[in-house]
Amino acid sequence: MPEFAVFVQGYQRFKSDAYVRQKARYDALASDGQSPPIMIISCCDSRVDPATVFDTTPGQVFALRNVANLVPPYETGGGLHGVSAAIEFGVLGLEVRHIVVLGHAQCGGIKASLDGGDLGEAGYSFIDSWVDIVRPARDKVLASASQDPQRDLELEAIRVSLANLRSFPFIAAREKSGQLKLHGAYFGISDGNLYVLNDKNDSFEVQ
Ligand SMILES: [Zn+2]
Repeated sequence: MPEFAVFVQGYQRFKSDAYVRQKARYDALASDGQSPPIMIISCCDSRVDPATVFDTTPGQVFALRNVANLVPPYETGGGLHGVSAAIEFGVLGLEVRHIVVLGHAQCGGIKASLDGGDLGEAGYSFIDSWVDIVRPARDKVLASASQDPQRDLELEAIRVSLANLRSFPFIAAREKSGQLKLHGAYFGISDGNLYVLNDKNDSFEVQ
Protein backbone atom coordinates (compact mmCIF):
# COMPACT_ATOMS: atom_id res chain seq x y z
CA MET A 1 0.00 0.00 0.00
CA PRO A 2 1.74 3.18 -1.15
CA GLU A 3 0.18 5.28 1.62
CA PHE A 4 1.90 3.16 4.29
CA ALA A 5 5.21 3.36 2.41
CA VAL A 6 5.04 7.13 2.87
CA PHE A 7 4.81 6.59 6.62
CA VAL A 8 7.76 4.17 6.62
CA GLN A 9 9.75 6.87 4.84
CA GLY A 10 8.65 9.24 7.60
CA TYR A 11 9.93 6.76 10.17
CA GLN A 12 13.28 6.61 8.35
CA ARG A 13 13.55 10.41 8.52
CA PHE A 14 12.74 10.23 12.24
CA LYS A 15 15.33 7.50 12.83
CA SER A 16 18.12 9.45 11.09
CA ASP A 17 17.22 12.88 12.46
CA ALA A 18 14.93 13.42 15.51
CA TYR A 19 15.86 10.06 17.07
CA VAL A 20 19.57 10.76 16.72
CA ARG A 21 19.17 14.19 18.27
CA GLN A 22 17.17 12.70 21.16
CA LYS A 23 19.22 9.51 21.57
CA ALA A 24 20.24 10.34 25.13
CA ARG A 25 16.61 11.00 26.05
CA TYR A 26 15.47 7.68 24.58
CA ASP A 27 18.30 5.83 26.33
CA ALA A 28 17.34 7.38 29.67
CA LEU A 29 13.64 6.61 29.11
CA ALA A 30 14.53 3.02 28.29
CA SER A 31 16.77 2.49 31.30
CA ASP A 32 14.90 4.56 33.89
CA GLY A 33 11.35 4.04 32.60
CA GLN A 34 8.77 6.71 31.98
CA SER A 35 7.61 9.23 34.59
CA PRO A 36 5.38 11.64 32.68
CA PRO A 37 3.94 14.41 34.88
CA ILE A 38 0.76 14.69 32.86
CA MET A 39 -1.95 12.53 31.32
CA ILE A 40 -3.87 13.89 28.34
CA ILE A 41 -7.20 12.42 27.27
CA SER A 42 -7.94 13.55 23.72
CA CYS A 43 -9.91 12.54 20.66
CA CYS A 44 -8.77 10.07 18.00
CA ASP A 45 -9.25 12.91 15.50
CA SER A 46 -6.18 13.18 13.25
CA ARG A 47 -6.16 16.97 13.58
CA VAL A 48 -5.75 16.97 17.37
CA ASP A 49 -2.46 15.33 18.24
CA PRO A 50 -1.63 16.33 21.83
CA ALA A 51 2.12 15.96 21.25
CA THR A 52 1.82 18.51 18.43
CA VAL A 53 -0.59 20.89 20.17
CA PHE A 54 1.46 20.98 23.38
CA ASP A 55 4.83 20.73 21.60
CA THR A 56 6.06 17.92 23.84
CA THR A 57 8.96 15.52 23.78
CA PRO A 58 8.94 11.74 24.29
CA GLY A 59 8.35 10.77 27.91
CA GLN A 60 6.40 13.91 28.83
CA VAL A 61 2.81 12.87 28.17
CA PHE A 62 0.84 9.75 29.07
CA ALA A 63 -1.75 9.85 26.30
CA LEU A 64 -5.17 8.30 25.95
CA ARG A 65 -7.19 8.90 22.81
CA ASN A 66 -10.74 7.82 22.10
CA VAL A 67 -13.81 8.98 20.18
CA ALA A 68 -14.75 12.46 21.47
CA ASN A 69 -12.22 12.37 24.35
CA LEU A 70 -14.80 10.89 26.73
CA VAL A 71 -14.35 9.39 30.18
CA PRO A 72 -17.05 6.93 31.28
CA PRO A 73 -18.30 7.01 34.88
CA TYR A 74 -16.49 4.82 37.39
CA GLU A 75 -17.95 1.33 37.41
CA THR A 76 -16.39 -2.05 37.98
CA GLY A 77 -18.95 -4.30 36.33
CA GLY A 78 -18.37 -6.54 33.37
CA GLY A 79 -16.90 -5.18 30.18
CA LEU A 80 -13.54 -4.26 28.82
CA HIS A 81 -12.64 -1.01 30.48
CA GLY A 82 -9.80 0.25 28.30
CA VAL A 83 -10.28 3.88 29.27
CA SER A 84 -10.52 3.12 32.99
CA ALA A 85 -7.44 0.85 32.78
CA ALA A 86 -5.38 3.66 31.24
CA ILE A 87 -6.62 6.12 33.87
CA GLU A 88 -5.83 3.65 36.64
CA PHE A 89 -2.31 3.10 35.37
CA GLY A 90 -1.71 6.81 34.79
CA VAL A 91 -2.84 7.79 38.28
CA LEU A 92 -1.88 4.81 40.44
CA GLY A 93 1.07 3.45 38.45
CA LEU A 94 2.73 6.54 37.01
CA GLU A 95 1.36 8.97 39.61
CA VAL A 96 0.75 11.72 37.07
CA ARG A 97 0.18 15.08 38.73
CA HIS A 98 -2.20 16.47 36.10
CA ILE A 99 -4.94 15.06 33.89
CA VAL A 100 -6.11 17.17 30.94
CA VAL A 101 -9.29 16.42 29.01
CA LEU A 102 -8.63 17.98 25.60
CA GLY A 103 -11.70 18.56 23.45
CA HIS A 104 -11.73 20.10 20.00
CA ALA A 105 -13.76 21.87 17.32
CA GLN A 106 -15.61 19.93 14.61
CA CYS A 107 -15.61 16.73 16.67
CA GLY A 108 -17.25 13.89 14.74
CA GLY A 109 -18.08 11.98 17.92
CA ILE A 110 -19.93 14.97 19.32
CA LYS A 111 -21.73 15.37 15.99
CA ALA A 112 -22.77 11.71 16.25
CA SER A 113 -24.27 12.45 19.66
CA LEU A 114 -26.14 15.48 18.32
CA ASP A 115 -27.38 13.46 15.35
CA GLY A 116 -28.95 11.20 17.94
CA GLY A 117 -28.51 7.53 17.49
CA ASP A 118 -29.15 7.03 13.80
CA LEU A 119 -25.62 5.87 13.06
CA GLY A 120 -26.71 2.27 13.54
CA GLU A 121 -28.44 2.43 10.21
CA ALA A 122 -25.09 3.23 8.60
CA GLY A 123 -23.59 0.03 9.98
CA TYR A 124 -21.90 1.46 13.08
CA SER A 125 -22.26 -0.78 16.11
CA PHE A 126 -20.24 0.96 18.79
CA ILE A 127 -20.26 4.74 18.41
CA ASP A 128 -23.84 5.39 19.47
CA SER A 129 -23.48 3.58 22.78
CA TRP A 130 -20.07 5.18 23.41
CA VAL A 131 -21.31 8.76 22.91
CA ASP A 132 -24.29 7.92 25.11
CA ILE A 133 -21.92 9.05 27.89
CA VAL A 134 -22.90 12.62 26.98
CA ARG A 135 -26.59 12.01 26.29
CA PRO A 136 -27.84 14.07 29.29
CA ALA A 137 -25.51 16.93 28.24
CA ARG A 138 -26.72 16.63 24.67
CA ASP A 139 -30.35 16.79 25.76
CA LYS A 140 -29.56 19.87 27.84
CA VAL A 141 -27.82 21.61 24.93
CA LEU A 142 -30.61 20.74 22.50
CA ALA A 143 -33.24 22.00 24.96
CA SER A 144 -31.42 25.32 25.29
CA ALA A 145 -31.53 28.19 22.82
CA SER A 146 -27.98 27.41 21.73
CA GLN A 147 -26.75 29.20 18.62
CA ASP A 148 -23.98 26.63 18.22
CA PRO A 149 -25.00 23.26 19.72
CA GLN A 150 -21.94 21.50 18.25
CA ARG A 151 -19.49 23.78 20.07
CA ASP A 152 -21.63 23.94 23.20
CA LEU A 153 -21.73 20.15 23.45
CA GLU A 154 -18.01 19.86 22.66
CA LEU A 155 -17.36 22.10 25.67
CA GLU A 156 -20.01 20.45 27.87
CA ALA A 157 -18.60 17.00 27.08
CA ILE A 158 -15.28 18.11 28.58
CA ARG A 159 -17.11 19.06 31.79
CA VAL A 160 -18.87 15.66 31.77
CA SER A 161 -15.56 13.83 31.41
CA LEU A 162 -14.03 15.84 34.24
CA ALA A 163 -17.02 15.00 36.46
CA ASN A 164 -16.71 11.33 35.51
CA LEU A 165 -12.99 11.39 36.33
CA ARG A 166 -13.97 12.61 39.80
CA SER A 167 -16.25 9.56 40.17
CA PHE A 168 -13.11 7.38 40.37
CA PRO A 169 -12.41 7.15 44.13
CA PHE A 170 -8.62 7.26 43.71
CA ILE A 171 -8.89 10.42 41.62
CA ALA A 172 -11.25 12.17 44.04
CA ALA A 173 -8.90 11.31 46.92
CA ARG A 174 -5.79 12.59 45.13
CA GLU A 175 -7.49 15.76 43.96
CA LYS A 176 -8.66 16.45 47.51
CA SER A 177 -5.16 15.96 48.91
CA GLY A 178 -3.60 18.16 46.21
CA GLN A 179 -1.60 15.35 44.60
CA LEU A 180 -3.57 15.59 41.35
CA LYS A 181 -5.03 18.47 39.37
CA LEU A 182 -7.69 18.11 36.67
CA HIS A 183 -7.92 20.46 33.69
CA GLY A 184 -10.31 20.99 30.79
CA ALA A 185 -9.01 22.34 27.49
CA TYR A 186 -10.31 22.81 23.94
CA PHE A 187 -8.38 23.14 20.68
CA GLY A 188 -10.01 25.30 18.00
CA ILE A 189 -8.27 23.67 14.99
CA SER A 190 -8.77 26.43 12.39
CA ASP A 191 -7.87 29.33 14.69
CA GLY A 192 -5.13 27.34 16.43
CA ASN A 193 -6.43 28.60 19.77
CA LEU A 194 -6.28 26.68 23.01
CA TYR A 195 -9.08 27.43 25.48
CA VAL A 196 -8.59 26.33 29.09
CA LEU A 197 -11.43 25.84 31.56
CA ASN A 198 -11.26 28.31 34.43
CA ASP A 199 -12.59 26.44 37.47
CA LYS A 200 -13.50 29.69 39.20
CA ASN A 201 -16.04 30.88 36.62
CA ASP A 202 -16.59 27.62 34.70
CA SER A 203 -15.72 29.25 31.37
CA PHE A 204 -13.19 28.37 28.69
CA GLU A 205 -10.61 31.12 28.29
CA VAL A 206 -8.25 31.53 25.34
CA GLN A 207 -4.58 31.22 26.23
ZN1 LIG B 1 -13.23 14.43 18.07
